[in-house]
Amino acid sequence: MIISVASGKGGTGKTLVATSLALSLAYEQKPVQLLDCDVEEPNAHIFFKAQPVSERTVSLPVPKVNYEKCQYCGKCAEVCQFNAIALMKRTLVIFPDVCHSCGGCWHLCPTGALEPAAREVGTVSVSQTADLRLVSGRLKLGTHISPPVVKAVRETAERDYITIIDGPPGSSCPVMAAVTDTDYCLLVTEPTPFGLNDLALAVDMLRVLKIPCGVVINRDMPGNQIIDRFCAENGINILLRIPFQTEIARAYAKGIPLVDSDKIWRDKFYNLYHQISGEVSQ
Ligand code: SF4
Ligand code: SF4
Repeated sequence: MIISVASGKGGTGKTLVATSLALSLAYEQKPVQLLDCDVEEPNAHIFFKAQPVSERTVSLPVPKVNYEKCQYCGKCAEVCQFNAIALMKRTLVIFPDVCHSCGGCWHLCPTGALEPAAREVGTVSVSQTADLRLVSGRLKLGTHISPPVVKAVRETAERDYITIIDGPPGSSCPVMAAVTDTDYCLLVTEPTPFGLNDLALAVDMLRVLKIPCGVVINRDMPGNQIIDRFCAENGINILLRIPFQTEIARAYAKGIPLVDSDKIWRDKFYNLYHQISGEVSQ
């Protein structure tokens, strides 16, 4: 089973939920791996004392010009839909950061002046604790195309493990790459109008992708019904509520997973896994 954890925006407690869910399974001797797909700011590793196992770079092909062969015809600049190539008189400029590696330019160059060259966009590292396998992606500084790094993290997952994916915040391309083809998505939100707005966007995205979802309310406060009303109207289950408590915030700030800060959360997160399994098997 693959469970993704997503949130409309950063800072809602997505990593707190993903790490605690993964650990609650590990403590029950389940084979579990956590994929940190929040590649712009991977921080799941902070919560584990994991030993490094391997690391590899993720590269994408971008065009490289052989100026001796270039006839400055401008075909490559014309064909590039992302404006990653510009021809100014007899100067051809390539902007690798906006290149999407579609290959159009080097396939259509009439003189064979363009060749694909590898450009590093990030890394994927695997580490291991006594209890679980952790795979983390990290986007290279100054690079903006994160979906390929997210994909590389997902490809590094072992089969036959229960997989928990800590996704990027938001509801755009990197999130899609993290949640696509998962069996279930847990949406972490806060009981505020901003939280509701982001939750509604994330729910719309999951409906398009046809992925079942449930909600975890973080920093929950008694009497605040804004998320409850939305979930009731949209037929979405609220599976867990994490209260607004300074002890929880303090432990999290020290890098202590919720399930380790208070043992009561081990059962709650293990129960969360069973609720998800029940919904998936229906
Ligand atoms: S298509 Fe080829 S020959 Fe024409 S400008 Fe581009 S690199 Fe040069
Ligand atoms: S590979 Fe595609 S996106 Fe990149 S420069 Fe060539 S045409 Fe543009």
